[in-house]
Amino acid sequence: MTRYAQSFSKTATPQTERADARQVKNSAGGFTFEIGPWQRLDRWLILGAEGGSYYATERALTRDNAGTIEECLKLDGVQTVARIVEISEAGRAPKNDPAIFALALACAADNQATRSAALAAVPRVCRTGTHLFQFAESVSAMRGWGRGLRSAIGRWYSGKTPEALCYQIAKYGQRGGWSHRDLLRLAHPEATETHAPIYRYAIGADSGERKVSRNGCFRDYPGTAPVPAYLDAFDELKRADEKRTIDLVRLHGFTHEMIATEHKNSAAVWEALLERMPMEAMVRNLAKMTAVGLLKPMSAAAGVVCGRLGDESRIQKARVHPIQMLSALKVYQQGRGERGSLSWSPVGQVVDALDAAFYHSFGAVEPSGKRTLVALDVSGSMSWSPIAGVPGLTPRIASAAMAMVTIRTEQLWHVTGFSDRMVEIPITPRQRIDDVVRTIERVPMGRTDCALPMLYAAGESLEVDAFQVWTDNETWYGNVHPHQALRAYRNKSGIASTLAVVGCVANGFSIADPSDPLQLDVVGFDSATPNVLASFARGWQ
Ligand code: CA
Repeated sequence: MTRYAQSFSKTATPQTERADARQVKNSAGGFTFEIGPWQRLDRWLILGAEGGSYYATERALTRDNAGTIEECLKLDGVQTVARIVEISEAGRAPKNDPAIFALALACAADNQATRSAALAAVPRVCRTGTHLFQFAESVSAMRGWGRGLRSAIGRWYSGKTPEALCYQIAKYGQRGGWSHRDLLRLAHPEATETHAPIYRYAIGADSGERKVSRNGCFRDYPGTAPVPAYLDAFDELKRADEKRTIDLVRLHGFTHEMIATEHKNSAAVWEALLERMPMEAMVRNLAKMTAVGLLKPMSAAAGVVCGRLGDESRIQKARVHPIQMLSALKVYQQGRGERGSLSWSPVGQVVDALDAAFYHSFGAVEPSGKRTLVALDVSGSMSWSPIAGVPGLTPRIASAAMAMVTIRTEQLWHVTGFSDRMVEIPITPRQRIDDVVRTIERVPMGRTDCALPMLYAAGESLEVDAFQVWTDNETWYGNVHPHQALRAYRNKSGIASTLAVVGCVANGFSIADPSDPLQLDVVGFDSATPNVLASFARGWQ
């Protein structure tokens, strides 16, 4: 090829130049395709922007995504709200914060139908008191407290059974400067006879005004119906000694958030808490329960915990997200907290059980039966910002853990890494996740060339049906674009290979050519990702 022909070649263009009119410059200076607003919405809902990215601050990334959400709201506001609800309710995101932020934006939309749909969705997206406080904080920066918003907040309270409401009020007192007292005073929900005493309690409880309220000082919720026994017991719990605390926990199912600080290091109290502890709280508090001496080798409590972690249907029902499992595993096995002074001796059986629980949290994954090449971007930008704000849990580490799901499911697979060159990733399905994490942490970093997996497969004459590339799509280093390398690979091998591009950061870029039906953008760190990948690979050949 002559120099001139090379510079006009359609089959190999340096990544720093545009190879296709639809391409845009990414943050690293290379040219990539752009994903559409609906795909960006999904990336935002699942990945969020906590901690920002290598190229953008959290603030800039959030502002950028807010623009995308507003674009979706303009295209179809009701559909946007439906998507927010769908992803939030299914527990597909590691954190609910991005969904709450997007819902708050929808509540401030110009379109009346969009606003109504968004306001009606508040109790479905904000399932806990903490979610509701986060929502209040977000929405008050975006719109006024008009009647529609006040009614929506009111419905959050009035739509709950007295038992559920008491639980929420005791468990989540306040957050970020918001409390139930503030919201009830703003919203003034109409109260039934059963709800009125709960509202009176919530309004007065944190200021010593409760006595006043019982004298009828709060005109909004008059009446003499007594406060439910649960809330009286909760008041008693705040002052109870250790023995009484244990009794009250067993009687009422109080949670660890409700316990007085002085009893939070008591193994006996944690033993009582463990009896009815929700799965997510259990996963989050394994280190604490080990540090206080409840979980130790061969203890009954360790048996209980391992039994629950090994119960696949229980884990799926609780919808604990794989990233939460991974985070718990990573922290627990190292024996000390990322911040703070807590340290413990990890119980081997618990680490093993967490490893199994990580796989259970995806549900059943159907193998694609395809020859699958999993390629992990191990460049520097992939180790920048932690996923969902979990300290130390970078896209680099999490993508390696996610790759384990694929290689344990498929028969024919190969895992490799790339930055500006191919890097060996020596992981096997028989490894435990903490070992995989240590392996990936030792892999050297470098610049980014996302075409390498396809060039490598061609060079090594590997027969690949399905390429799976985990990346932030900030490619810039190579002399050929990834979609061109894929085309060349197909020509050489005669295989109509698919390419799934698994996006690991909530930006708008993709190496996938959107006009090729054999290329797909998938969002990483979604509990549905392994199944989406397998069914895409299965569907096309
Ligand atoms: Ca990079």
